[in-house]
Amino acid sequence: MPVRLHNTYSRQLEDFTPLDPVGQRVKMYTCGPTVYNHAHIGNFRAYVFEDLLQRHLEARGYAVERVMNLTDVDDKTIRGARTAGRRLADFTQVYKDAFFTDLETLRIKPAQHFPAATEPRYIERMIAMIAQLIAADIAYQAEDRSVYFRLSKFPDYGKLAHLNLDELRPSGRVASDEYEKENIGDFALWKAWDDADGDVRWDSPWGPGRPGWHIECSAMATAILGPEIDIHCGGVDNIFPHHEAEIAQSECCTGKKFVRYWLHNAHLMVEGQKMSKSLGNFYTLRDLLGKGFTGREIRYALLTVNYRLPLNFTIAGLEAARAALARIDEWVRRISDFGSQMSDTNAASDLPGEFATRHESFFQALDDDLNIAGAMGQLFDLIRESNSALDHGDLTSAHAAKLLAHWESINAVLALEPGILAVPAEIAALVEKRQQARADKDWKASDQLRDEVAALGWTVKDTKDGPKLSPTAR
Ligand SMILES: [Zn+2]
Repeated sequence: MPVRLHNTYSRQLEDFTPLDPVGQRVKMYTCGPTVYNHAHIGNFRAYVFEDLLQRHLEARGYAVERVMNLTDVDDKTIRGARTAGRRLADFTQVYKDAFFTDLETLRIKPAQHFPAATEPRYIERMIAMIAQLIAADIAYQAEDRSVYFRLSKFPDYGKLAHLNLDELRPSGRVASDEYEKENIGDFALWKAWDDADGDVRWDSPWGPGRPGWHIECSAMATAILGPEIDIHCGGVDNIFPHHEAEIAQSECCTGKKFVRYWLHNAHLMVEGQKMSKSLGNFYTLRDLLGKGFTGREIRYALLTVNYRLPLNFTIAGLEAARAALARIDEWVRRISDFGSQMSDTNAASDLPGEFATRHESFFQALDDDLNIAGAMGQLFDLIRESNSALDHGDLTSAHAAKLLAHWESINAVLALEPGILAVPAEIAALVEKRQQARADKDWKASDQLRDEVAALGWTVKDTKDGPKLSPTAR
């Protein structure tokens, strides 16, 4: 069964075939963050969904070349830098660095390319594309010295969002700051410099200024991936006008169909409400880590809701993620302990068919437009059924070893393995003291030390192999 994806352009599920079906190479462009602030959990929903898409395509044998851009010049970054009294590049660098740390925390595979809009080669390309559009009479410089895309020259505008272009035409009143344009829908390709831009400016044939946000993505996408891209992703709020504008600019410059498959994830809400600073439910990743949740738990909560459904992000959901991960961990520990014995004579025996089927069904669910909820259902059925088989002595250690291999291929897509937790030196020292107290049969001191360790957030369990430490579940 081929991978099927819902294409926003056609509003249909389509069989996925890349431009290069022989080489199985997939060119994927994903709109990245605007680095004026820490990315919030709604942004990360998109990046986690895109990570799942990449990992599943790789599991199906595709080689994915992915670009994620960084928007490091636009209205918000300029305003932020001015407010902070810093140079734009210094201001955005802080948030670029933070973004890369956050990606790592959430186990999102780094893209091969992270182009930033202000890199000279991309600014040059934006200027070249705009010049080409002006030469073709598709763009024009208005009275305000900015350059706009002439929408009337691109009849397909609105097709991705399924909007009627006529609805975008002015009906009577036109906002006062739009009066220079020929058509209210015309969007800026080049924004003429003004005082508010400070020292943020590049020279161009149309005078000093800076690129519009939309042309940034068209320039970076086509510069790196070429005129035709297999998959372009983003959140639903990117569809209009951003992705419409990307199509218009790119196709008018290259004469080729820009993107074959458009994928958009639905909104994220927090505790049933639209996330907003005024409601106090606006979470960055750091806010959630500060509440004691791990990147892995947050990844689980973002990952396991099908991308085209709205995701209601809740603290209860994070707690459920913690419980689900504990179940996975316990199962993985069990099959790896049992599998590592390998003492059976029937080591070559096949895994019972129902378990192999569950494993294949996990991937088949993902083939179906990344039905992760269905895939997780298969995984938890596999866990339940194989645990029960182990309880009844129905599995050999060779079976367990094969189950472990299945888990590893599933986890290559999920990236939900336990993190290796470094035990702080202070805790290790207390545990060592406690071991000494136990050796001395000083039970009172031993209990006291255990309580001290507990107060620092760690649980110590005595096993036949010595004390085992784990962070206390909160
Ligand atoms: Zn973009």
